[in-house]
Amino acid sequence: MQDKRGLLIVVSGPSGAGKGTILAHTIESYPTLKYSVSVTTRNPRKGEIEGVNYYFKTLEEFETMLNQNEFLEYQKVYDNYYGTPFSKVNEQLNQGFDVVLEIDVKGALEVKNKYPDAVMIFISPAKRETIEERLRGRSTESEEQLKIRTNSAIEEIKQAVFYDYIVVNEDVHQGAMDIIAIIEAEKCKVKNNKKFIDNLIYGGK
Ligand code: 5GP
Repeated sequence: MQDKRGLLIVVSGPSGAGKGTILAHTIESYPTLKYSVSVTTRNPRKGEIEGVNYYFKTLEEFETMLNQNEFLEYQKVYDNYYGTPFSKVNEQLNQGFDVVLEIDVKGALEVKNKYPDAVMIFISPAKRETIEERLRGRSTESEEQLKIRTNSAIEEIKQAVFYDYIVVNEDVHQGAMDIIAIIEAEKCKVKNNKKFIDNLIYGGK
């Protein structure tokens, strides 16, 4: 029996690594894992839903939230701002749910600084070529944006060394199973079961 507060899980990876798809599969198979919906100033892509993929805000609205200290972390990524709303994450962790943040590398390192127990997972494509192929397949970006995203994807991969785990996206199902295996292993860590052990020794609930 894991201690009551849930695990804070941070997932990053370059654009085109397939993070979104893997996480969607993971959450489907592991319902106690909650996805933290970020706030962004970027425009919705086709098919994206307010409150499901992001909370889409104007720059002014974002700045107001920032001034009111509503973010656990935030970053400017490409030309837009992205932030993790603090209160929802904290509430879900306190309720014992595990919460996953899908955020960029800089934001991830900020989270790790504030919460050293955060479990850091880097999702990587199986091959270098896959990055551009995937970004092209999504075809929501202009040629110039595509180039910028491909280059920064390569730069981001250099940051994988700061993570605890790497999950290679060769197969979406396997990727999701790997993330679940990581979560399950983390739950079995002695440091996450201190209260349980104390209860065994000293009694109580
Ligand atoms: P996209 O525009 O493709 O949805 O996301 C661009 C990048 O921003 C991705 O690397 C994504 O993980 C990151 N991102 C999304 N939400 C947040 C957030 O709340 N904080 C930070 N730091 N990065 C985020």
